[in-house]
Amino acid sequence: GSVTSAESGALERAAEAALRPRRLDEFVGQQVVREQLSLVLDAATGRGRPPEHVLLSGPPGLGKTTLAMIIAGELNAPLRITSGPAIQHAGDLAAILSSLEEGEVLFIDEVHRLARPAEEMLYIAMEDFRVDVVVGKGVGATSIPLELPPFTAVGATTRAGLLPAPLRDRFGFVGHLDYYRPAELHEVVARSAVRLGVPLASEAAAEIAGRSRGTPRIANRLLRRVRDWAQVRGSGQLDLAAARAALEVYEVDESGLDRLDRGVLQALCTRFGGGPVGLSTLAVSVGEETETVETMVEPYLVREGFLTRTPRGRMATSLAWEHLGLAEPDPVRG
Ligand code: ADP
Repeated sequence: GSVTSAESGALERAAEAALRPRRLDEFVGQQVVREQLSLVLDAATGRGRPPEHVLLSGPPGLGKTTLAMIIAGELNAPLRITSGPAIQHAGDLAAILSSLEEGEVLFIDEVHRLARPAEEMLYIAMEDFRVDVVVGKGVGATSIPLELPPFTAVGATTRAGLLPAPLRDRFGFVGHLDYYRPAELHEVVARSAVRLGVPLASEAAAEIAGRSRGTPRIANRLLRRVRDWAQVRGSGQLDLAAARAALEVYEVDESGLDRLDRGVLQALCTRFGGGPVGLSTLAVSVGEETETVETMVEPYLVREGFLTRTPRGRMATSLAWEHLGLAEPDPVRG
């Protein structure tokens, strides 16, 4: 993968964990969600009850996991972390649910990817604090209802619309995270630099912020690559020159597009004449999973005006042709 869209490995997860804000007031940006969430948490604490279930939606890397951890932290509650794809069978979920402590926060990442039986078990548990444990097999199987202590589910999804309505309706609060503004990302990397103990020049922070696709995860990742560059090739100073040089090594361009982003645009323009072409065809042509292109690549390209979605498929915009330095075909003759 490329520097901005690589799947997280164990090392990266550790590096990320070190940079996670721990409290709501250290969480940069997302003013609206922060305010809403703080009301939900304070009200619940005031009543001495666990808060309602929380659904967080938004593109990868915008802080959903971080917020789930902050929620548990602010409530002084234990946190259990799992994900839709990690739960293969309803029995896996039953095991988790039946071992929850009172007030525990259960974070389910990619909750839209739960298999149907697990999904049904989850919304019954969320609504009635009950799980039906099936004992035995075949005609002799019986289901025994098991009472659960009150807990708070925090679900994360890339789009709230991906969740079936019965599950979505069980979340009392839905927070939508949007891409961050450069000034906010500037603050994110400045804080991260302090945590990493490296001196980051303000112009370097601005350069990183402007090329991080509105995403704190990418901003922190680029900061670490700039730090590497400064240490190995530079003078140790994280200044503008070091930032630009590192971003060039990692093929992040002035618009913040990385290799995969450009690969998708390039394929769209050169192999499919600018489209329209279906997303899965486009994904195959760059050797990526459809979901990767759909969640990690496309939203930013759309937002920045490089790509549009039409009923007949994806299309490159004039800006895309221009960005790649290609001549746009004459639309009149199409
Ligand atoms: P998601 O779960 O949405 O994919 P994460 O919560 O894992 O995203 O965040 C990815 C990285 O970005 C983490 O290292 C986190 O510390 C950082 N991050 C995300 N949002 C913020 C924020 N608002 N302020 C500071 N750092 C953030």
